[in-house]
Amino acid sequence: MSERFLQNGDETRARWRDTSPLVAEIALMLALAYVVSFSLALHGAVLREGVLLGALALAACSAAYAVRRASESTRAIWWSVPLFCLALAGSEGSRLLTGHMDVSRGSRWLLAGAIMLVAYAVLALGALRSLAGSSLIGWSLGLIDSAMISLAVSAPWYLAFISPRIGDHGGSDLLPQLLVPVVAVVTLVLVWLSNRLVPKTEISSLVLIAAIGAGLVGSLLLGRYLLANGSLAPVHYALLATALLVVVAAELTGRSRRVRSRIRLSVGVARMAVVLVAFVAALAYAGLAFRRGDQSGGFAVTTAVSVLLVIRLLVQSLERHHHSARLEEALHEQEQLAVMDSLTGLYNRRFLDAELQLELDRGARSHAPVGVLLCDLDHFKQINDEYGHLVGDSVLREVARRLLNAVRNGDLVARYGGEEFVVLLPDGGKEKLREIGERCRLAFEIAPFELPGNQQAQVTISIGGACWPDDANFPRGLIGAADAALYRAKGAGRNQMRLSDGDADEASPSLAPLPASSSPPVETSQPTARSRLDLASSLETGAAGAKSVSAAAAQHENALIEQWAALVARALGLGEDAQRRCALAARYHDIGKSALPKAVLGKRGPLTIVEWELVKEHPEMGATLVELAPGLAEIGEIIREHHERFDGRGYPAGKRKEEISTEARIVSCCDAWEAMRSERSYAATKTTSEARAELLAGRGTQFDPEVVLAFLMFGEGDFAGAEKVLDDLSARAGIALPKEY
Ligand code: GH3
Ligand code: MG
Ligand code: MG
Repeated sequence: MSERFLQNGDETRARWRDTSPLVAEIALMLALAYVVSFSLALHGAVLREGVLLGALALAACSAAYAVRRASESTRAIWWSVPLFCLALAGSEGSRLLTGHMDVSRGSRWLLAGAIMLVAYAVLALGALRSLAGSSLIGWSLGLIDSAMISLAVSAPWYLAFISPRIGDHGGSDLLPQLLVPVVAVVTLVLVWLSNRLVPKTEISSLVLIAAIGAGLVGSLLLGRYLLANGSLAPVHYALLATALLVVVAAELTGRSRRVRSRIRLSVGVARMAVVLVAFVAALAYAGLAFRRGDQSGGFAVTTAVSVLLVIRLLVQSLERHHHSARLEEALHEQEQLAVMDSLTGLYNRRFLDAELQLELDRGARSHAPVGVLLCDLDHFKQINDEYGHLVGDSVLREVARRLLNAVRNGDLVARYGGEEFVVLLPDGGKEKLREIGERCRLAFEIAPFELPGNQQAQVTISIGGACWPDDANFPRGLIGAADAALYRAKGAGRNQMRLSDGDADEASPSLAPLPASSSPPVETSQPTARSRLDLASSLETGAAGAKSVSAAAAQHENALIEQWAALVARALGLGEDAQRRCALAARYHDIGKSALPKAVLGKRGPLTIVEWELVKEHPEMGATLVELAPGLAEIGEIIREHHERFDGRGYPAGKRKEEISTEARIVSCCDAWEAMRSERSYAATKTTSEARAELLAGRGTQFDPEVVLAFLMFGEGDFAGAEKVLDDLSARAGIALPKEY
């Protein structure tokens, strides 16, 4: 009993740890609201200072309590509160101090007001810092938004207390007269610049430019001909209101898809809403100031908010630009990972398979032979056993280097399996094969390998060669023929080369074995044809072995999901385009996570509400990212929907059933399987049968029942059955399936 009890106790404590900052947060907000309203309402009362200081102390204490317990990502807000309290006390202090000096009333209030403004800015900055993530752009956006919010908060204070005390209203109207057009022109230039920065000009920005341009012309005309006193301030005001409408419209168009299906309050939307409300509030106060004849006060506020808004737009464009640069980088990395072998830097087997087909096509057109050399290290196991796998790895790197030196320019060297390499020789007849093969073999014989600790090892290779069209007339047959020749070279005592003699090699015995079910594809020591059985073996083993922390592992996982998604799409009778979309979307489905803070992604234990909101943004971010990339736009919607649930309780839009594209329903099922079978930071790995049971249990709620069945049909390894169902399905859908997949 005690163990279970202890566990429960731990859980309760953990839950309390997680919620207690929230409680402190609410207490603090109440205290702060009290401070602000009190300082406004009881202004001038005798007890004011004492009560204010008490409230400040209360706020500082609860913040200090929260700092100790808050998670990394929300700590900034708690640090900003004591600073806020300090600044507020400073503001009070300065007012009291200057009260005894020979300073005018207005200047005294101005100084106190400035310090007060800083206090609000610090507080808002702390809050936004917690939401903004850690990038420079995130920071700048936080800074701008906090300035906007501070302005909105301090403007009424200014209007109610400072402005009447400064007294001297209605000064010169000249400043606003001159500056309004200048501000409008600067705005135009900045918006134009921001459009230059993002590759695609957005409709919303064009509308904004048009609105401001029209406002500018209108204000000049009005000022010149219509307004008796020539004041441009009201026009400037109208102009900003128009700009605001346009920005709201732009925000809504940007999110229209989401808005159409259902508006959900995410952190981003909520934050934008707060900023816009602040903007409207600040403008309203400025309007009041104008009405009271305080031209400079009103003008100061309108100019400040308009400039802030424009800078915000500019930074946002930068952010988009930054995102698309990141996407390009990620795509490039993916491309590299897809074709390279990470240990040796040579091309991998996937690339070789594709190249071989291309070379044979080219050879057929130009009537030139194509040769392959299959090279296998002799007794490599001994090196591993004797010196360890790390030394074995460095030997493999040196092997790659020697092979690259031995071949001609234009020949392609690929790592085919563990310690097997293939040299592909365009224009490689038997003579060339013999010459280059011999050069490769000698490259090893000629000098021993240097190993760590001043040791040396003599490494030799055996080579089998075959050429098209003499030995085989299709890619796999060609490799098979080379493999049979290699087999003979090994049999004849190793460290030698054999060429295929062209007969019966196409059905080489060593080509036939199925992939060993306990080793992932790269590790297979025999050249195994990519077969339909890849799915079964990877379902059983690959996902379970993948660790979600490293990029290579993540790439491996995505490659698995990609294969499954394509196969399930085929099983459901979808056309080739849809199959390709499924595969692509599966490959990039989590790319939006690259924009999440590392602290959130790698976090062990439960996420806070704010962190969870961030994570829930990743389908939308991923979709935005791929929609920027040429050729990938069509999978944007699938990525956006890959966390929707069949019963409508998913995110971001809460779509249900057929509202979710079939492709997204497929990716979601494959992704879930992979998550259940891999090691995750937040839950234990499930066995195959547990995962199977969970998929079945989720039919109709989380998953599309048909997709689950199609997926499990392969998972059961019943390929004869699967093939029959495939044939039926494809016959019904009128699609001819190729025999190999
Ligand atoms: P043979 O002459 O018959 O080829 O003998 P061999 O010892 O080379 O036998 P085999 O080809 O079956 O063994 C391949 C070995 O290569 C087994 C495996 O441990 C090792 N190996 C495969 N991939 C890697 C790798 O990435 N790094 C290291 N260090 N070893 C690997
Ligand atoms: Mg070997
Ligand atoms: Mg081998």
